[in-house]
Amino acid sequence: MSRPLIADIDLDALRRNYCLARDQAPHSRAVAVVKADAYGHGAVACADALRDLAPAFAVACLEEALTLREAGITQPVVLLEGFFDAAELPLIDAHRLWTAVHSDWQIDALLAYRPRQPIPTWLKLDSGMHRLGFAPEAFEARWQRLAAATEHVTDLHLMTHFATADALDAAYFRRQMACIASLRQRLEAPVCLANSPATLAWPEAHGDWNRPGVMLYGSDPLEGANDASRALEPVMTLRSEIIAVRELAEGEAVGYGGRWRASRPSRIGVVAGGYGDGYDRHARDGTPVLVEGQRVPLAGKVSMDMLTVDLTELPEAGIGSPVVLWGEGLPIDEVARHCDTISYTLMTGVLPRVPRRYRNAETG
Ligand SMILES: *Cc1c(COP(=O)(O)O)cnc(C)c1O
Repeated sequence: MSRPLIADIDLDALRRNYCLARDQAPHSRAVAVVKADAYGHGAVACADALRDLAPAFAVACLEEALTLREAGITQPVVLLEGFFDAAELPLIDAHRLWTAVHSDWQIDALLAYRPRQPIPTWLKLDSGMHRLGFAPEAFEARWQRLAAATEHVTDLHLMTHFATADALDAAYFRRQMACIASLRQRLEAPVCLANSPATLAWPEAHGDWNRPGVMLYGSDPLEGANDASRALEPVMTLRSEIIAVRELAEGEAVGYGGRWRASRPSRIGVVAGGYGDGYDRHARDGTPVLVEGQRVPLAGKVSMDMLTVDLTELPEAGIGSPVVLWGEGLPIDEVARHCDTISYTLMTGVLPRVPRRYRNAETG
């Protein structure tokens, strides 16, 4: 018998979440964001499962794009941060990748390179995120420069990113929208705007393209859920089993530092899975874990290879009982809150030693 911890990945759920994103933004095309190995779900398997649905994929860097090309993904793939070095341009050209452009050095490099075919380019506007892109007053001159370079650049889009589309307070979001609207109108620019929360909650921000990421994997990115976000389905279920059971007297402690103490005679279950697999060590006592489909509380600090749960209220559980750490029946967003983090870090943090097992891989 092998170690029972697996990441069980439901590719049909991924497809349904993609369709939900598409239906939320019917006048926009949804580029499926599969950066960071599809948020830990496996970029090749996920892109393959979406290949008949998604008109394009988005990644963070050339290496991620080449992984998709090597796997036979032929759709457009856009580099969300563009290239990090002008030496990447020949491969961008050869593999027909699309690039974002956020800095003058990138524009200079693009215009100094003579591609076989002009490169589809998304020029990044800093509308308020203040991370990448050109300030509104600097944007137009860059736009005109790229628009005139028809041998180098084609299909020029205005791209920008929202800082607060998930928040209930819409003031900052509206400020970003106002910044986008004036430039969009003056330049008659096609636009690529919405991330997952804007796709779900802000129809005016969908643009010609939207860029759903985390929602494809079933996490609800909104501070206040809506009907659409509640319909998302988990794609990854992190499954394991109880591998040992301890009976403890009142007052005994569990695990490193003895953080959890038995306030009554207690039954502790040991689960295969720990921070060496990507389960967050910041998980507090009381973080929910599903055993035999029932919620039980985490009890004690997470170890590298194991974690411990209080089974006192679940006498039917024992060695071999199935465990879900997040996924079906236990939303990853809820686990993330107990770890003072977000679903993104949990998903992308599942380490390579956890086998990915794919369900419903047949498409079309
Ligand atoms: C990661 C990323 C996205 C997707 O964001 P989600 O919140 O996961 O939907 C969209 N656009 C850009 C530029 C990104 O870097």
